[in-house]
Amino acid sequence: MKVLKFGGASLKDADSLKLIAQIIKREKKDQVVVLSALGGVTNKLESFLRYPARQNEKEIRLLLEQLKKQHYSVLKKACPTRYSVRSETAMALKRIFNKLERLLYGVSYTEDLTPKISDLIISFGERLSVWLLAEVLVAAGQKARVLEADKIGLVTDGDFGNATVLLEQAAPKVQRVIRPLLRRKITPVVTGFFGCDESGQTTTFGRGGSDYSAAVLAHVLNAKELVIWKSIDGFMTADPEIVPKAHLIDILSYDEAAELAYFGAKILHPQTVEPVMLKNIPVAIRNTFRSLRQAQGKLSNGVTRILPKGYEKKGIIKGVSYDRDLGVVKILGPGVGYKPGVLREAVSHITPLGINIKSVITSQTSINILLAQRDVTVAARVLKQARMKVVDKIETKKDIALVGVVGEGLIRTKGLAARVFAAVARVGVNVEMISAGASTVAYYFIVQEKDLKKSVRAIHDAFF
Ligand code: ASP
Ligand code: MG
Repeated sequence: MKVLKFGGASLKDADSLKLIAQIIKREKKDQVVVLSALGGVTNKLESFLRYPARQNEKEIRLLLEQLKKQHYSVLKKACPTRYSVRSETAMALKRIFNKLERLLYGVSYTEDLTPKISDLIISFGERLSVWLLAEVLVAAGQKARVLEADKIGLVTDGDFGNATVLLEQAAPKVQRVIRPLLRRKITPVVTGFFGCDESGQTTTFGRGGSDYSAAVLAHVLNAKELVIWKSIDGFMTADPEIVPKAHLIDILSYDEAAELAYFGAKILHPQTVEPVMLKNIPVAIRNTFRSLRQAQGKLSNGVTRILPKGYEKKGIIKGVSYDRDLGVVKILGPGVGYKPGVLREAVSHITPLGINIKSVITSQTSINILLAQRDVTVAARVLKQARMKVVDKIETKKDIALVGVVGEGLIRTKGLAARVFAAVARVGVNVEMISAGASTVAYYFIVQEKDLKKSVRAIHDAFF
């Protein structure tokens, strides 16, 4: 059994849905399909939630109009002969849109937006897209069944907006629903991006979370393979927008993929590797829009495989990633490095704000906490207010970026760090901080944001 996941950029229009149906039909094995929302839908919902000024009747009407147009036009174009307003799919869409409308008005009237309501609203893109694909599959002669992940018991820890699945609790529930369908040759089409907490409330996995949903389903169903279908080929040696010569990486280990996904490379949701790694399930990242030519034997490559055991490449480095969305809060004081408990206390002030700490780099006189840019100001404010002992001052910096260099064997290879930093130095870039050794397959360092592109290109040139 395989789990196939299709992302929003692969779910553009009627033609792409038909293409996806062909990909699914072509597979000989049983499969479970996991979907994102149609392209752009989650963004629209999110921007309604983010801007209170939009939470009025006029904007709600506009938003619903746009979403309805997008979905119904795909449905009509993809299945012209099956379409009628009374078809099961059209009725389902209507029901879902009615519910969404009520929720949006609820937020507008109560002016109260809790994380719980926010997660519920933002989950609607997936609830809609699964119906469209199921309809297209049925039209193509494949039995299919829509499943909403929060209704089938994909139980999470309840952390709204950033939930993690409780694999052991979820497994029997999900198996009980999906296995009988597979036995009857019905393809389950499951919503990505969310599950439910123990009381059944919808909890999302954070943006891009459908990858993680698919990995979780692969885990709980003991899939032979997880295939993530995207609108691009897979992991590249660097961002091709910065390095035009960048090329596809054919094989990555779980660790390499996790490091590349965690910082920068917006290819996979950062949590994706964890559930598959626990069961050694191989992952393939493929390009939806190249699939036809591949099937015709005209294209052989175009795949990144993520495998339990990677390999050590000659030259070691497999990819250079970066993260622009980075800022640092510096906690300065002569004793912060050796006084026990300073870091713990700092973290205890920051985490209640729901802020994720991306990394920490410390020295004797300074603790550097790396955060997303939007979190820097608030985090610095609470740390100042906390008036921690031994801390002289708190400083912040936002115009920085992180560069990551990833490859199996990197920590063990003599002279590699020297080559990386020499390459950067040659183009006149100053490295502000370095973190090496925390992961055995990655180094990270921080440069001024203005030097980012130069640094990435310099490393790529030196190693590829
Ligand atoms: N639709 C969600 C998002 O855009 C989840 C996903 O695409 O994976 O973030
Ligand atoms: Mg998406």
